Amino acid sequence: MKPFRHMNARSLSQATELLAEHGDKACLLAGGTDLLGLLKTKAAPIWPELVINIKSIPGLNTIQGDEAGLRIGGMAKLADIIDSPEVKKDFPVLAEAALSVATPQIRYMGTMGGNLAQETRCWYYRYPHEIGGRIMCRRKGEGPCLAVTGDNRYHAIFCGKRCFSVCPSDTAVALAALDGQIQIAGPRGERLLDVLDFYHPLRNALAPDEIITEIRVPRPHAENCQVFMKHRVRESIDFAVVSVGLVMVLKQGSCDFVRIVLGAVAPGPHRALKAEAYLEGKSLNGENISAAAELAVAGAVPLSRNAYKIELAKTLVKRALVACTK
Ligand SMILES: Cc1cc2nc3c(=O)[nH]c(=O)nc-3n(C[C@H](O)[C@H](O)[C@H](O)COP(=O)(O)OP(=O)(O)OC[C@H]3O[C@@H](n4cnc5c(N)ncnc54)[C@H](O)[C@@H]3O)c2cc1C
Repeated sequence: MKPFRHMNARSLSQATELLAEHGDKACLLAGGTDLLGLLKTKAAPIWPELVINIKSIPGLNTIQGDEAGLRIGGMAKLADIIDSPEVKKDFPVLAEAALSVATPQIRYMGTMGGNLAQETRCWYYRYPHEIGGRIMCRRKGEGPCLAVTGDNRYHAIFCGKRCFSVCPSDTAVALAALDGQIQIAGPRGERLLDVLDFYHPLRNALAPDEIITEIRVPRPHAENCQVFMKHRVRESIDFAVVSVGLVMVLKQGSCDFVRIVLGAVAPGPHRALKAEAYLEGKSLNGENISAAAELAVAGAVPLSRNAYKIELAKTLVKRALVACTK
């Protein structure tokens, strides 16, 4: 690993000022479970000269619930999300998604902000510099997306365009299904962004001098059903090949409210709007579930080796809807 300077930030304003001052020569360190791997392999195109530890900023790791909903500090650990009685009771889709992340050790170190802002797992982007030199690609600012003509079995089937890597965050899928928002702070003040708007094809919505300070989740309707399901190659520990987050309210057997969000199929969580619209007011019988599953993948454009993701997505949507009938 190349050397860098390490600083413990004492306040949010100090951290954002340091980011603003050093530009792309500085980066944030939360749990370090993603960042340190990238630094070790020297995969990223830019090397930080300053690494700013934000775990040292007080007050960013709380989890608080009230009538309006849930507020999760950007530094709250994934393990704390899983253990929170409030999250388990009223936001189980988020607890399940956090529980499906990596291993207990990584969940104990990894934070909510870091999970949302983690870099893509595309194997071309992450190719280690030490083995034959760095592979450049569109996401690194030079050349085409190599997944288009290469091995694209884990890449996007929606909204690929410039870069076909997928968002690796499981919690983003659950938060999008819960209509969650991300609070971001920077030298120009604070802003609130829907989780769905946080992800773009080449990078996330953070400016170089901004920090995720909080995640806000509105309290879902009473009597709702929440499901998170994830298909992965290794059940023990692995990123999603496809996942689904579902939040649904059934009234007298008919769908009164529904959010269906697919994960690992696009640069960010992908909301299945056509399936949601179809289900409104309908009962959850076999025919409607199958039709909704077909509509959930409407508009998918697979690459040469990942059409199987369409079938996987349909199956997960069906299973999640069936789970709500029980
Ligand atoms: C073996 C392995 C398996 C994994 N499996 C999964 C999985 O199945 N599902 C899944 O979702 N994830 C998985 N991950 C990813 C893991 O969840 C993330 O590494 C972790 O959540 C990142 O959190 P962190 O606090 O360690 O972030 P860091 O590594 O400290 O930071 C990650 C990135 O986010 C930025 N960042 C961190 N906090 C903030 C903030 N508050 N504001 C702005 N930017 C910030 C950092 O600058 C850095 O660029 C896996 C990781 C490993 C190593």
